[in-house]
Amino acid sequence: MQTPDRTTLLRELKNYLLLLEDVGYSEIPCETKLFAETGSLEPTIPSPVKIMASGKKATQLAQVREELGDCTRCKLSQGRKNIVFGSGNPQADLVFVGEGPGADEDEQGLPFVGRAGKKLTEIIEKGMNLDREKDTYICNIVKCRPPGNRDPEKEEIVACNPFLIQQLKAIKPKVVVALGKPAASTLLGRSVPITKERGTWHDYEGFKLMLTLHPAYLLRAYTVENRKAVHEDMKKVLKELGK
Ligand code: SF4
Repeated sequence: MQTPDRTTLLRELKNYLLLLEDVGYSEIPCETKLFAETGSLEPTIPSPVKIMASGKKATQLAQVREELGDCTRCKLSQGRKNIVFGSGNPQADLVFVGEGPGADEDEQGLPFVGRAGKKLTEIIEKGMNLDREKDTYICNIVKCRPPGNRDPEKEEIVACNPFLIQQLKAIKPKVVVALGKPAASTLLGRSVPITKERGTWHDYEGFKLMLTLHPAYLLRAYTVENRKAVHEDMKKVLKELGK
């Protein structure tokens, strides 16, 4: 068997660490066995199977991520740097679903880390008094960046949607929030006039779904009216969560 080169090893290690983060791990259990036992002083990193054992939801989410693999099910795979699977707590009662990764997210392999992500964090932490990492899980309709930040196309959404459904079925949140028109329209299977329908409850695959404005829209149209609208929507979410 050919030994992988350093670049390949580093890429695989990075993907492995992102996978761990995707399913809620913030530390790596790392065992250093004695020279006498292993013949080496190098630390050994347990396989994902061994360390995913804690938490049924985390395990199920890890299985979804493993099934997704190095996905090439649609053409968005061609231009991506990283698959942006999702991040946060697999035990969370609240899941936010956006449209797709942008440039920053593609670069880091994590959802909502750019300007819109900062705004979303502000909504969660200052507006809702929740902790983004502990109290929520965040993902997107498509897991790879559409070129030039265009809207995802129908066949891309169709290819990726089973994984979103499986993510939600693993997490079993009390509430799902669709961020913006494309996410709301995709989840409801029709064109949603988001400024009219935001703040309303719907059903998605048996989950309670709230529609609200996308944080990027809020940044573009930073009006008192829009901020108040999102605040009102999140108040409804908190009430549903019993907070
Ligand atoms: S967008 Fe989804 S279906 Fe398409 S390549 Fe990425 S992970 Fe696969």
